[in-house]
Amino acid sequence: MRKIKAEIINYSKMLNSRKLSALRSGNISARYKDGFLITPSGKKYSSLKNKDIVFVSLEGKFDKKKGIPSTEWQFHKDIYINKKEANAIVHAHSTNATAISTHKRGIPSFHYMVAMAGGHDIKCAKYATYGTKALSKNILSALNGRKACLIANHGQIAFEENLSKAFELAEEVENISLQYITSLKLGKPKILSLKEMKKVLSKSQNYKRG
Ligand code: 13P
Ligand code: ZN
Repeated sequence: MRKIKAEIINYSKMLNSRKLSALRSGNISARYKDGFLITPSGKKYSSLKNKDIVFVSLEGKFDKKKGIPSTEWQFHKDIYINKKEANAIVHAHSTNATAISTHKRGIPSFHYMVAMAGGHDIKCAKYATYGTKALSKNILSALNGRKACLIANHGQIAFEENLSKAFELAEEVENISLQYITSLKLGKPKILSLKEMKKVLSKSQNYKRG
């Protein structure tokens, strides 16, 4: 447990250092036993200690005396319940993904790397107040067949089989978002066809080698 907590803290600090989320915004979790370990609510990542990381069961139970989990524990819980392949989740308010999300729109196949999120586009979950069951429901629909999505007027979320991969996917989503915004400045980008994206999706299954 100590090792996973240390890993969560390490990646939380990287949310700040890699400019994916400032100060205390966003949250990170990793599956553990019959639940998951998650960053606490409202603490600056720079000050996190092992004892601050909170365990939440898949029934949504936690011991308040041991700390208050992220306000977003519900969507983390629902992702672990509904996506057996998810072992780690990164939620960030990264600037470019958030900027697109404020237009309540996703990212189409303007670039083949969109396939990294698992499909031909990246969806944007409908807006709901942070920390609510309604937000969790909207996120699960946007993650249908995907490993990442934007969250309207809020940010982005990515899950993977481990923390390193989940963090990398969140970085990819931010990078793709910046490229999409840049491309829009030149007009309407040409969109890759569904047929081409299907080709990319089958090819990209064995793309990452290290
Ligand atoms: P927490 O500090 O409670 O995790 O909240 C941050 C956040 O990003 C809410 O969406
Ligand atoms: Zn958030």
